[in-house]
Amino acid sequence: IVTFEHVTKRFGDTVVLNDFDFQITPGERVVLMGPSGSGKSTVLRILMTLEDIQAGVVHVDGEPLWHEKHGDELKPAGEKHLRRMRGNVGMLFQHFNLFPNMTVLRNIIEAPMRVLKLPRDEATRRADELLERVGLVDKREAYPNSLSGGQKQRVAIARAMAMRPKLLLFDEPTSALDPEMVGDVLQVIKDLAHEHDLTMLIVTHEMGFARDVADRVCFFCDGRILEQGPPGEIFTRPREERTRQFLRMVL
Ligand code: ATP
Ligand code: MG
Repeated sequence: IVTFEHVTKRFGDTVVLNDFDFQITPGERVVLMGPSGSGKSTVLRILMTLEDIQAGVVHVDGEPLWHEKHGDELKPAGEKHLRRMRGNVGMLFQHFNLFPNMTVLRNIIEAPMRVLKLPRDEATRRADELLERVGLVDKREAYPNSLSGGQKQRVAIARAMAMRPKLLLFDEPTSALDPEMVGDVLQVIKDLAHEHDLTMLIVTHEMGFARDVADRVCFFCDGRILEQGPPGEIFTRPREERTRQFLRMVL
């Protein structure tokens, strides 16, 4: 469902992705780990079309995000095309990004009504189902600033799911939470992981969680994937010294 081929991403002189190749097959749950500043968030932001690339090709669901022009220069896909692509991809940020002036319910129904043109009652039905699943039915009419961090993140998950994305991206979804909130949020994500047509790419350093949820763990370093495999393999028998160092640090 996702392919990066020979992708180069630079910020000025900083090369973040260098001839980067990466694939995710439909339904796969992939965890991306790696040192701070290595480019994990950039990979997610490229998939959300929040960042452009300087060379290579990125496909989501069989469609290119950028079209190659002549030479190095890449032309972005048309606005209409990008809007459709964004609808297929949901993203969870470290800091929830809820609309503060809207109730929880309104936060969830806004995009389905506006972007998918769902009628209000259908969007509301979908939202209520999701609130049930994330355990926040009683917060339906609350405003985000009255919620705990863990509750906000669960609303953000419900909001992303309301768009029925094919691909869900998580950027350190629990790193801004107090320790006692982390478990609930991870449990909600684990439950979602059982949905068969959902593909997940998760940046996290929570190893226990990665073990439970990931089909594959990728260790990302110096602009490429240094090593990858099933969590049992990567965590117990990493081949690369660089991976071992990193794992010692986060353990
Ligand atoms: P962390 O674990 O700390 O979140 P990360 O792996 O997510 O790190 P990125 O945020 O993807 O790393 O950043 C990769 C590199 O790109 C860093 O060196 C960062 O300074 C640089 N970078 C990211 N965004 C920009 C930007 N908008 N302008 C310039 N440089 C940027
Ligand atoms: Mg990051």
